[in-house]
Amino acid sequence: MDFSKTGRLCIGGKWVETDKTKDIINPADASVLSKVYAGNETHVDLAVKEAKEAFKQWGVSSVSYRAAILFKIADLIEKNSRELAEIDTLNNGKPLRDSLGDVSDSAACFRYYGGLIDKPSGQVYSVPDPNMQSFVVREPIGVCGQIAPWNYPLMMAAWKLAPCLAAGNVSVFKPSDLTPLSSVRLFEIFEEAGLPAGVANLVMGPGSVVGQAISGHTEIDKVVFTGGTDTGRKIMTGAVKNIKGISLELGGKSPCIIFDDYDLEAGVDWALFAIFCNQGEVCSAGSRLILQDTIYDKFLDRLAQRAGQIKVANGLEEGAEMGPLVSKAHMETVLSYIDIAKKEGARLICGGKRITEGKFANGYFVEPTIFADCKPDMRIVNEEVFGPVLAVQKFHTQEEAVELANATVYGLAGGVFSNDISRALQVIKAVKAGITWVNAYHPTFAQAPWGGYKQSGIGRELGTFGLDEYTEIKQININLAAGKVGWFA
Ligand code: NAD
Repeated sequence: MDFSKTGRLCIGGKWVETDKTKDIINPADASVLSKVYAGNETHVDLAVKEAKEAFKQWGVSSVSYRAAILFKIADLIEKNSRELAEIDTLNNGKPLRDSLGDVSDSAACFRYYGGLIDKPSGQVYSVPDPNMQSFVVREPIGVCGQIAPWNYPLMMAAWKLAPCLAAGNVSVFKPSDLTPLSSVRLFEIFEEAGLPAGVANLVMGPGSVVGQAISGHTEIDKVVFTGGTDTGRKIMTGAVKNIKGISLELGGKSPCIIFDDYDLEAGVDWALFAIFCNQGEVCSAGSRLILQDTIYDKFLDRLAQRAGQIKVANGLEEGAEMGPLVSKAHMETVLSYIDIAKKEGARLICGGKRITEGKFANGYFVEPTIFADCKPDMRIVNEEVFGPVLAVQKFHTQEEAVELANATVYGLAGGVFSNDISRALQVIKAVKAGITWVNAYHPTFAQAPWGGYKQSGIGRELGTFGLDEYTEIKQININLAAGKVGWFA
């Protein structure tokens, strides 16, 4: 990608410049990495018009044609994997090994939905009238407005666009205004793969303008959003206008529960991965460690020691394990939560500061931070920090562990670690969350549904459930006996 060129919107197959640009910042050193054009309501209107026109063909196109294009997109993502990974690392800050994993998952997502779209779907019913045959087909919805966050720039675009296009819908897609660069590159790949003009449209710009225009647009049939819970409420309000369908993937404050019978070194390792992978900027992060009292002190000593060894560095640096946070404003929010936790009496056992020495001077780096002895009413326990900050709580019994785990307005994810498989299963079944793990944390698969309970969202992405979100269900009833109904004399 040529970072010296200003990234353009893509509407109806044309690359569009606007009268406003936005600087895109490299969070590792606060330098201007590139610029993109910013759109507004007019560009959303135009994109909807183009999408509606494209839907006339795409919505009735053959599944094998659509699958072939999705497979081509997957191949091209893989072919350009190093470039795409570097774009996300430079723009978001995440270590290159994380970005490479995201690129591979993005290709897998396009390939999965390309493969899924011609598999059996629908239902056939035996109804009381033997002369009637009743069945259900799934049809594309139409124009989908899709709004993505900044924490997995390319992968969030893939999770949205792959099932949407596979199902025969058309899209008006808005990436986060902090991290639009890999989306611009992805749309170039769409063009190269032969995706017809107008099927997917890229409109960059601020959430309050472009995002709001998408959620409120009366000719958009469905809005699919990933982001914060408060923004999710605004999306719902916008969607009310034309009662459009909504799918929301929102925030979390997910529990990672560890019992004393689990191997301590392995437990520490998973707990670190649960919170500090991707700088803690993960919706499903295990941001609350719920630890059994019998191993509490020993476990925390080792956890703090290991967290202190995490290699925080520019994401492009060899061996980088944690990069900078995405922006100055976000870093300040995370640091403010660290202050709040201290004031509320949580015990800081590791980290707690911005890193500013030497080469870190201008970047938005924050130390891996752990607070022990957190109480249920502390803000650090209840509010999503979305950074490298772990809140640890102590439990004695299995019942207490479950009670602490569920004491949240969120319900996105959760993990339990125990060698007693009956106990582990009892606990995980009692945890009110949509994505759960036993003796693991974070593995995510294109085949399995992703989404949350409670204020973590509505609907699911990925898997067959994720495809269903992009279809309307139509029942068709056929009268096999020709003739009159005979109801009125
Ligand atoms: P955000 O809510 O600030 O922004 C998300 C997107 O919404 C961006 O594209 C933004 O420009 C847009 N937006 C902002 N205001 C808007 C408005 N008024 N109307 C319409 N769109 C608007 O979230 P973020 O800071 O980009 O991402 C972090 C949040 O995303 C966290 O809360 C995290 O938990 C959540 N997240 C959830 C999942 C999931 O699968 N559940 C995945 C990733 C991130």
